[in-house]
Formats: sequence, C-alpha cells, structure tokens
Amino acid sequence: MTVGTIFKIKRYALHDGPGIRTTVFFKGCPLSCRWCHNPEGIDPQAQTMSRRTASGDIDETVGTVIGVEALVNVIEKDVLFYDESRGGVTFSGGEPLGQPAFLDALLAACNHRDIHAALDTSGFAPAAVVDRVLPRLQLVLFDLKIMDPDRHRRYTGVSNRIILENLTRIAGSGTPVRIRIPVIPGMTDGDGNLTAIVRFASTLKALDGIDLLPFHRIGEGKYRRLGLVDPMAGAAPPSPARMAEIKDFFDRAGVAATIGG
Ligand code: SF4
Repeated sequence: MTVGTIFKIKRYALHDGPGIRTTVFFKGCPLSCRWCHNPEGIDPQAQTMSRRTASGDIDETVGTVIGVEALVNVIEKDVLFYDESRGGVTFSGGEPLGQPAFLDALLAACNHRDIHAALDTSGFAPAAVVDRVLPRLQLVLFDLKIMDPDRHRRYTGVSNRIILENLTRIAGSGTPVRIRIPVIPGMTDGDGNLTAIVRFASTLKALDGIDLLPFHRIGEGKYRRLGLVDPMAGAAPPSPARMAEIKDFFDRAGVAATIGG
C-alpha cells in the first residue's frame, strides 16, 4: 500500500485553482522561505505544535501518515461540487514532488475518477519526478520567487537553477501552468526582480497567467506554536496601492496578472 505524510486537508478551497477544490497539503519541503506561512509543512516528519486553550496550552501532533485509498475517499466526497464548479483537487504543501510515489498514485486514482488535478509546487525536484507526474496533471500552479540565484539562495535556502529549468520544462509540455509570485516587500517585489520575471515568463511556451500573492501574517502564530523564531516578525504586507502598481507593471508588459489566486 502506498502511503504518504500530509498535514492538512482543506475542503471547499476557493483559491488553489479553478472552482471549488479540496486541497491536500503534503508534509516536507526542501525550501525554507523566510516568508513561509506554512512552517509546519517544512519538516517531513510529524511534529508537535502547541495550541492555546482556555485551560492552558495543549500539544497537538501535526503530520499524518495516510494511504492513497483513504485520501481518495475524502477527495471523492465533494465530487458533486467539483462537477458543478469545474473544480477538483489541488496537491500542495510543503512540496508534493517530495513524495513522488504517493503523488503519482493519487494522481492515477484522480485521473481514473475524472477528477481535475492541480499541483501547487515550488518546482524544486528532479526532472525525472516532474516528467513522471506531468502527464497526469490538468494544471500546475508554479511558485516563482526570485530570479537572482544568490538572492534566491539567501531567502529560500536553495538555488533556483533546477526551479527555472522545471518551469521551462512544464510550460513546454502543453499542461497549463500559472506562475504564482509571493509579493514579499524588500525580497521579491523589487523592480529588478519583477523585470527579470517578466523577461523569463515571456520566453515560456504556454503560460496560463500570473497570480500575485501578497505577503500576509496568517502564519505568524504557527512559528510560536512550533517553538520557532518567526523570520518575518513585524514585517508589513504590501499596500493595496503597491499591489495594483505591480499588477499594472505585468499587464503593461503583456503578461496578464491577477492579484490573489
Ligand atoms: S516553498 Fe512554500 S512551503 Fe516550502 S518553504 Fe517556501 S513557502 Fe514554505
């Protein structure tokens, strides 16, 4: 039996691809982005997270080992909603490509049931893994952060070489791909980075569009609950005016962008 480790299942998700979706969050990510709002998704192992209650803090385990069949049973519960809304399932994380056999088996099961399957990925995985799952996907949401390799390494912990290669590979495959850019003040939102992204995006064969995802503070409490220091403590989200300016920049360059995703 193929099993994998996940840390959350979100039903009725509206921002992880088209229509009403179930989003499955895989546990484990090879990156460590400073702005990560799912820090509980980085460690591949189950972890303890505290939760404040009226009667004091209690410890909870984050991370569940689950079999393909059990997970597909959950995904299938909302098939009527997917059909009505042209939705489906989105595999997110963490990094789903970090558990290739599990992901592949889930995708095969979704294909078999005609459930639209999307992958939300950092793109940091061997090309062979991408090639293995790509034919089973109907959509890829590809997170693109920083074009300069040194700055990418500084803010995410890894090189962007393999990420850019995989994005080119996916965009050339015929599978629709949307680029998702986390807009992090002082890290990803500089004019130089945005210009480099536009230039790179213009070379891609099939691009479905760009989503601009403004930095937010939702993950703030999770760092404390995991006993970690929040690297973005005190940082402010980009203003609506700055987000509109960035969207305008992409639109004028001929690369249609949407705020949110
Ligand atoms: S790629 Fe996503 S999940 Fe992984 S560390 Fe970065 S923001 Fe977090």
